[in-house]
Amino acid sequence: MEEMRDPRLGTVRLFLKHDDNKARKLRYNLGHPRVLSFGGAYSGHLRALARAGMEHGFETIGVVRGEEHLPLNPSLAYARACGMRLTYLDRAAYRLKHTPQVLDGLRETFGDVAILPEGGSNAAAVRGCAELPGEIDLDYDVICCPVGTGGTLAGIAAGLPDGKRALGFAVLKGAGFLNDEVARLQREAYGAVSGNWAISLDYHFGGYAKTSPLLDAAFEQVYVAKMIYGILDLAGRGAFAPGTRVVAVITGQLSTPVVSWGTPTGLDSGDPR
Ligand SMILES: *Cc1c(COP(=O)(O)O)cnc(C)c1O
Repeated sequence: MEEMRDPRLGTVRLFLKHDDNKARKLRYNLGHPRVLSFGGAYSGHLRALARAGMEHGFETIGVVRGEEHLPLNPSLAYARACGMRLTYLDRAAYRLKHTPQVLDGLRETFGDVAILPEGGSNAAAVRGCAELPGEIDLDYDVICCPVGTGGTLAGIAAGLPDGKRALGFAVLKGAGFLNDEVARLQREAYGAVSGNWAISLDYHFGGYAKTSPLLDAAFEQVYVAKMIYGILDLAGRGAFAPGTRVVAVITGQLSTPVVSWGTPTGLDSGDPR
């Protein structure tokens, strides 16, 4: 793990732990020969699902919010090249995606299929993410992660040893509902809420996928850069006790940076499925 230096940290120490949380969330969700899930046109969750399907040999179906735009953007082109079938729901239908009407319609179309919620956050995803703290062999007090749908934070907090705390940074504007959502996910996974976590709602920079020149360009902008800014800002304000050791989970795939989802080798991206 690398240590990050910054004058705002003062005596606080900040360590960076890379983790492909989307793949981790899928680990205990796999096993069905056909898996369907939902996402926006740039969904990292759909990419991770498509890649898992290719690697483990199961069918994947991506239900994308909005209309089809051709050519596919690089994110959907990657999913497609991994063999994912893409289908689209207009915004009104997409809002109803988790209702029985829409789910029954999808089952009618796609047959026997396991359906994962948007972002892949469910009890199995939480259990997958709970394994992350066990893989950190460094002494620390606080672990930080970005928060989109809350599954990653719910799992990390649930997997923490006694005495350590988790702090999530919401990337959505007005995301107070995430406190209920993370609690619900922990209850679904373990029957109880761990009580060792909090969510900062102050570093969304205008909302999901909104950026700012204040964000460090060295980090992925949608999630990671906002968390890093938040940690440094809080440290600068003295929000951490002197000498606090912080681990920041740098979420996302190390091997496929945001700008270069290549076509997976050995696959025909023109496959008409
Ligand atoms: C999806 C994602 C997150 C957020 O994870 P949630 O479990 O939805 O909160 C954080 N960072 C990256 C890079 C992601 O792709």
